[in-house]
Amino acid sequence: MTTIPQLTLNNGVQMPALGFGVFQTPPDETRAAVAAALDAGYRHIDTAAAYGNERQVGEAVAASGADVFLETKIWISDYGYDETLHGFDKSAAKLGVDRIDLLILHQALPSEFGRTLEAYRALETLYADGKVRAIGVSNFMVEHLTALLDKATVVPAVNQIEVHPYFTQPDVQAFGAAHGILTQAWSPIGGITFYRDSGHRSTLDDPAIGGIATTHGRTPAQVMLRWHLQQGRSAIPKSTNPERIAENLDIAGFELSAEELAVLDGLDTGRRGGPEPADITLAAFGRPIPEA
Ligand code: NDP
Repeated sequence: MTTIPQLTLNNGVQMPALGFGVFQTPPDETRAAVAAALDAGYRHIDTAAAYGNERQVGEAVAASGADVFLETKIWISDYGYDETLHGFDKSAAKLGVDRIDLLILHQALPSEFGRTLEAYRALETLYADGKVRAIGVSNFMVEHLTALLDKATVVPAVNQIEVHPYFTQPDVQAFGAAHGILTQAWSPIGGITFYRDSGHRSTLDDPAIGGIATTHGRTPAQVMLRWHLQQGRSAIPKSTNPERIAENLDIAGFELSAEELAVLDGLDTGRRGGPEPADITLAAFGRPIPEA
């Protein structure tokens, strides 16, 4: 079984650098996917209230008996102080735990930033009460982080953002590094470039990534994951296929050179695959999160 390196968050909590993502994993396939991931050796799962599969994640983790770092996200429809406290109750009950390892805000709501701040204040309360071991954000751009830090008493431990070779957001990563906020890469192998019409070609078909993979006798996915870890990011690849689940964890035993890292960095197009953070509104993206 592969040993996964740990990252130390800004409050001293240890988190496995590589986690297992379950976005778009249907609830009826989630138990098997998470069980395969735990079998392969993952000990960190990234889910979200909005994914509709927290319950199945919790069931698979409980059935395994393993000690697993659980990360989940509060959806924008549950922003506001009391609403977010209740969002924790819903997620914890579905996951079947009393305490969540890392609870993050899924998106900023730029047009209603006051509500976003109230949601974050609720995370700070949950943290002070020991109900979560660490708190953070997702899809926060520099302006959102700046506005948050102006009011926050707890610096977010993590900002989970889109990072793959075609979109690396160096400004957001640098701001995070300067403030002790760990960048966690979503779509770390570029899933958004091929499972959705993103205007990008698939990162898996990129000749430069393919060339580096051939040099090391590895796959493009393994090269991209190695790139994240060597640059100090957390990454949370998703798969429902047991072979690919194991492949994505099997990234020890080779090292990318500084030149190879620079080649991967040089593929950035500056064009995101996911939704524009400025366009996230309750009207467009809001939907109720069911009770536990
Ligand atoms: P990924 O970069 O993890 O790619 C997932 C896609 O790649 C799936 O289609 C999967 O298919 C395929 N795949 C997985 N492994 C391999 C492999 N080794 N070779 C070839 N294909 C492979 O993209 P995601 O967007 O899913 O991001 C990962 C996680 O990040 C999500 O599951 C979620 O937890 C999080 N996320 C967070 C967001 C946010 O807004 N905070 C937004 C998007 C994602 P298959 O399952 O068939 O293997």
